Amino acid sequence: MRPLSLRARLALWYAGVLLAILVVMSALSYSFLRWSLLQQVDASLASVAQIVRETDERGAGDSEVERAIRELLGPGFSDRYYQFLDPEGRSRFRSGPPPMALPLTPEARANATQGRRTFETLEDARGGPVRLLTVPVLREGRRVEIIQVSAPLARLRDALAGYLTTLLGLVPVAVALAAVGGFVVTGRALRPVRDMSRAARQITAEDLGRRLARRGAEDEIDHLADTLNTMLAGLEAAFAQARRFSADAAHELRTPLTALKGEIEVALRAGRSPEEYRGVLRSSLEEVEHLIRAAEDLLLFSRSSAAIGLPRDRVDLEPIVLQALEAGARRAHGTGVTVRAEDIEPVTVLGEGGALRRAVLNLVDNAVKYTPAGGKVSLSLLVRDGRGLIIVQDTGIGIDPADRARIFDPFVRLDAARSRDTGGVGLGLALVRSIVAAHGGTVDVESTSGAGSRFTIRLPLA
Ligand code: ADP
Repeated sequence: MRPLSLRARLALWYAGVLLAILVVMSALSYSFLRWSLLQQVDASLASVAQIVRETDERGAGDSEVERAIRELLGPGFSDRYYQFLDPEGRSRFRSGPPPMALPLTPEARANATQGRRTFETLEDARGGPVRLLTVPVLREGRRVEIIQVSAPLARLRDALAGYLTTLLGLVPVAVALAAVGGFVVTGRALRPVRDMSRAARQITAEDLGRRLARRGAEDEIDHLADTLNTMLAGLEAAFAQARRFSADAAHELRTPLTALKGEIEVALRAGRSPEEYRGVLRSSLEEVEHLIRAAEDLLLFSRSSAAIGLPRDRVDLEPIVLQALEAGARRAHGTGVTVRAEDIEPVTVLGEGGALRRAVLNLVDNAVKYTPAGGKVSLSLLVRDGRGLIIVQDTGIGIDPADRARIFDPFVRLDAARSRDTGGVGLGLALVRSIVAAHGGTVDVESTSGAGSRFTIRLPLA
């Protein structure tokens, strides 16, 4: 079954809560009304008993007692019936034919013996419920008589039944009205959300610069707008970066392709000797090799940028650093640069060994590339402040302070001519940064122009 809409659920909750409140309030008010009506009846019974007793003590007759009751309490109390009983419970005299045989229950008799009065409710099969008060009359501490006064509870019962009927009729109406009202109110309350989702739906990849309007109420709706706007800003930046990246990548690929095209066109313009053709093919091959390297770098970079779900294996960094050392030494062979290890400690991190190897290799490769003959490249692997550090230091040409931050951006080559020679497209450090970031680490550089650079990768330990 399809889940109910938020609006319907809120309206139902609202009606449900109201129903619970009304049921509790109705039960309480019904009990209170019943209690207070009974209190009134009991009070009138006590008054009648008092009058009956006092009038009787004056030795007045039956009719005089009734007249006194009527005078004192009004005609509304003419349905009160009373009788005198002797201590054994035999009727001495009474106000008229009893509505029912008034019993002297054992409990009332026991109370009377102790001088206490008793209120009881009796069920009369014909006339409905009756309230009965039994009062002992004591003279000189002795129980001489018992007065019983009764009143029918039919009116009280009818009043309560009427009240109950009203409640049973009104509560469902109130709950139904609350449900409809709740539906209307939540509809109004949710309108800004609907407006916002309509506005958000109209924002496409082409106009990510648009933002959702805030109402200025600083409420949940405004917070939602802020959240979506922050997300849009992030998406806009990411899209812009992706566009810039493809433009730069296309440019990187176009330059060698144009050179290749030019060389081939020149070669085709006239007949050439086999030696000349071979020369053209050789330089074409160089361009093609450069293109292949560029394409490989691009592929690697886009893979590492998307490496959000990198496997999380335990990786021992020592063999990786030693392999990079070997590769660096091979690369430096014949250039007059020495590559050596400094402090090597065992370090284990969580991540992907292949990607980390690639990052260290790139740093060592650059260090060898940008260090002139006679220079030194050294590698260290340490644990400092609870993090694993890989340090690649060289005594090479160094990097200008102004360029230090941007060398990690894609396609940045400070020494373009030299880099072209050595084959990079300016993605090496961008790749290092993206691999290290995917491992929750950082990479930074310290450098003195002309005196060397020191690249440090910091990774969280496993
Ligand atoms: P490339 O493919 O050109 O090597 P990188 O992203 O690896 O691209 O490096 C970007 C630029 O940073 C390089 O062109 C170079 O100018 C500079 N650079 C990188 N490493 C060093 C280093 N160890 N010493 C001096 N300059 C460096």
